[in-house]
Amino acid sequence: MRVRVRWAAERVGAITDIACFEPYDGTRGADRGPQAHAGEFDEPVTGIVAPARLDYTYSPGRAQSAYLHALTDRKTVGERCPACRKVYIPPRGACPTCGVATEERVEVGPRGTVTTYCIVNIKAKNLDIEVPYVYAHIALDGADLALHARIAGIPYDEVRMGLRVEPVWTDGGRYPDHYRPTGEPDADYDTYKELV
Ligand SMILES: [Zn+2]
Repeated sequence: MRVRVRWAAERVGAITDIACFEPYDGTRGADRGPQAHAGEFDEPVTGIVAPARLDYTYSPGRAQSAYLHALTDRKTVGERCPACRKVYIPPRGACPTCGVATEERVEVGPRGTVTTYCIVNIKAKNLDIEVPYVYAHIALDGADLALHARIAGIPYDEVRMGLRVEPVWTDGGRYPDHYRPTGEPDADYDTYKELV
């Protein structure tokens, strides 16, 4: 059975433009069959807005479950590699360098050092943070991997590498809302240069 598209009365550029397919008894001829397109368009479409959303069910596993549970007590717990002795935050359950499982749990922080940072000038949708603000990599004391977090409590243009910071929690927060300066002297570059 030959069919053809019956277009909707109003077309908006979506699949609903196709109202249905209906019987079609026409024959495919040279004047109505598929033709090679020259690739030239009178009004070329240069972009479309396509809202997208992906929902994930994430299983954190043994190491990250312990990390997440510790956060509810406002503690940051990583795991130490038995071979190279590095402490990973958050722990993934194995050392990516040595390829061995990590099991020894180590509490780190809560204070840390800004190893590098960026100034954010673009306001994020659905995020109630005024721009500009600073997002930084922070090496918590005792950790061999920097995590990232927002820095506040200091003008954005005074944030610097080596700045000593501590976490600030909000009521009911499951992780620090941001980090703020501790007032300690800046850390020596040599103490965190491997974590930049
Ligand atoms: Zn290792």
